[in-house]
Amino acid sequence: MITIKSHKEVDLMRQAGKIVAGTFEALRRAVKPGVTTKELDHIAYDYIRSHGATPSFLNYSGFPASICASINDTVIHGIPDDTKLCEGDIISLDIGACYKGYHGDSAKTFPVGKISADAQRLIDVTRQSFYEGIQFATRKNRVGDISAAIGNYVEENGFSVVRDYTGHGVGRHLHEDPSILNFGRPGHGLRLMAGMTIAVEPMVNAGGYGVYVEDDDWTVRTDDGSLSAHYEHTILITDGVCEILTQ
Ligand code: MG
Ligand code: MG
Repeated sequence: MITIKSHKEVDLMRQAGKIVAGTFEALRRAVKPGVTTKELDHIAYDYIRSHGATPSFLNYSGFPASICASINDTVIHGIPDDTKLCEGDIISLDIGACYKGYHGDSAKTFPVGKISADAQRLIDVTRQSFYEGIQFATRKNRVGDISAAIGNYVEENGFSVVRDYTGHGVGRHLHEDPSILNFGRPGHGLRLMAGMTIAVEPMVNAGGYGVYVEDDDWTVRTDDGSLSAHYEHTILITDGVCEILTQ
């Protein structure tokens, strides 16, 4: 079911989004060689709780942590543990916060120390693909317009978009309808309406688009071992330019 949010609901989502953005600032400073992903998880938990929210991912379908921490060839859903970040790694962090019943959801990929030019280009193209997509995120356009813009930009740059996972509606629930694919055809799919809140989240592999899930039933990795990056914001569809709620 698609939900249109009231002004009051959007305002709560803005506040949830602000907490997510603040958590990213805390984590950005903490990401460096030697830190463990569990330490990053604790920083996020403390930040979110101390700002009156709860971590959306903690216990979501049994997920055991507050953030997803996905290193190098891990695409999404990496479980924080005692793994230490190493110089040259890239790490995708996915954060959700629930404030007074409403969620904000955002993800970014960070360099750990000095990284290769190829890894930096993957991060940059992934981020830019989000902005290419949301140029079309306005009332009366269709979901496929966003999807196609993301997928085309990624492929023009020689990378692949992951096909098995998608963006999504977000609000009272972390995952709501509709699904927002990261590839598709312009002019197809659901028509966007002002008041819809969606998480647009390209997941981009340096190699092929194939992925698999590890035995822990969470960790998603690239089939070919290539690097993967992620970029996500929760946005509000309006009559004009969309509003990014998680920055
Ligand atoms: Mg997310
Ligand atoms: Mg999401």
